[in-house]
Amino acid sequence: MSSADPTVDRRIRSVVIIGGGTAGWMAASAINRLVDPGRLKVTLVESAEIGTVGVGESTLPHFRAFNASIGVTETEFMRATGATFKLGIRFENWGAIGESYFHPFGVHGAGNEEAPFHHYWLKASRTADVGSIDDYALPAVMARDERFTPPTSEPGALGSTFTYGYQMDAGLYAAFLRGRAEAAGVTRVEGKVVKVNQDDRGLIRSVTLERGETVEADLFIDCSGFRGLLIEQALQSGFTDWSHWLPCDSAVAIPCALSRPGTPYTRATALKGGWQFRIPLQHRVGNGYVYSSDVMDRQAATDELVGRLEGEALAEPNHLRFKAGQRTRNWMGNCVAVGLSAGFIEPLESTSIYLIQKAITTLIELWPDRTFDPADSREFNRVMDMEAERIRDFIILHYHATRRDDSPLWDHVRTMDLPDSLAGKIDLFRSRGLVQQYREGLFAHPSWVAVFLGQGVTPDRHHPLADKVADAQLIPGLAGLREAIRRAVVAMPGHDAWLGGVQR
Ligand code: FAD
Repeated sequence: MSSADPTVDRRIRSVVIIGGGTAGWMAASAINRLVDPGRLKVTLVESAEIGTVGVGESTLPHFRAFNASIGVTETEFMRATGATFKLGIRFENWGAIGESYFHPFGVHGAGNEEAPFHHYWLKASRTADVGSIDDYALPAVMARDERFTPPTSEPGALGSTFTYGYQMDAGLYAAFLRGRAEAAGVTRVEGKVVKVNQDDRGLIRSVTLERGETVEADLFIDCSGFRGLLIEQALQSGFTDWSHWLPCDSAVAIPCALSRPGTPYTRATALKGGWQFRIPLQHRVGNGYVYSSDVMDRQAATDELVGRLEGEALAEPNHLRFKAGQRTRNWMGNCVAVGLSAGFIEPLESTSIYLIQKAITTLIELWPDRTFDPADSREFNRVMDMEAERIRDFIILHYHATRRDDSPLWDHVRTMDLPDSLAGKIDLFRSRGLVQQYREGLFAHPSWVAVFLGQGVTPDRHHPLADKVADAQLIPGLAGLREAIRRAVVAMPGHDAWLGGVQR
């Protein structure tokens, strides 16, 4: 096909998605609805025998925009998936055993300060006890009190200083999306792919299923999970290994019964061999222990997790193995990897579903034609590499900024060499309390501040702008803000009261 002739119709006519986990059904739903609806044929192949990873339940606020883009309302989503609201993550025992802090989905302060709020807090903390920085983030105090109300859009109002995500049942979400996607025309094929058929240019032409059937398409989306059936096994993209910085390589997950109404936050507790997640839903709690197999064996990790469950276990332990890192190229020729097939960074900040969403929206932005111009894949790979590297650095910070020395894991991460990009960020914050800004990518200023301060990276100096306010004015001002936040939170309904309206 000549790429120069404008009379030739080169539009993609068919897409095959391999895999029916969260990534597969999110991709099918969005592509079917947003790209050439009615003309583009979308097929999803999945194997019930292989199954999905069956975890992945805590999300970031961006996820709300994804649901809205595919026409899903909050109420129907929450009812279908037993979801709760999420205002951030509570980190326990990270900087040191016995310490905790909150990474809020929102800002510290009233949001209208001349310099970032933490500079005023730092200045005041040097001469007075002004409490924890968490006391000045509305979502952190809402989470502590287990209250919820949606943010307002009124400029300058305290209620506009936060946002929220959800905690949801991943299995129910995939089933919900599947029902909607099939009703909207997506064809689902049950079967196991056993062969990937390529032409002499290396493009994938079809996949062969175990029962002999062949499924053809112009574009293939690899949502096959850790195995990377197309992107790695067939196309051999390669893998950039980050396990030196992120040595956890195993997880065991066990859902349990709720002992009390679900809290509007996820909890991440650092343990000797790694860390434990607790993700409360309407109908159960998702629990897991993400650990390093160098420090702890499978049985010890399972026993420790079982001992820490707050209710009756509702399923057998689900054991997973992984390696931290990123496929060298996520888009090759006519194949795009989305989800675990594209790489994995442990779920400490609930970033995998965000990366799925980002890959889908970026693919749609760069939607190719059948010439598969390498400029499109180059740009896609640049964006996804940048996103993954920024998340990687943020997660490494949680491990590195610690005073823990109670296991070889903590000794390694505390003393290891860092990526230059992160080392520079830490130096800048430690000396001046500044956060390197970037226009694209996840985790803006308030997130970095929460983790730096929460894990004991205290700046030597605050910003000179904070000196414009004298202590005699600043300290009572902070007390007033803390009180305004407290009063606003006390007036809000409980999180469980909000859930009453969206119950499964
Ligand atoms: P999978 O769920 O593995 O799906 C793969 C699909 O491919 C399946 O349908 C399978 O049947 C199919 N398949 C594979 N091979 C073949 C074949 N040969 N033929 C046909 N079909 C095939 N993310 C978050 O955002 N938040 C979290 O809180 C979070 N927690 C996590 C906790 C743990 C312990 C782990 C390991 C991950 C977590 N994640 C989290 C990541 C999240 O689980 C995944 O990003 C998400 O589930 C997407 O997975 P997937 O769809 O890419 O792969």
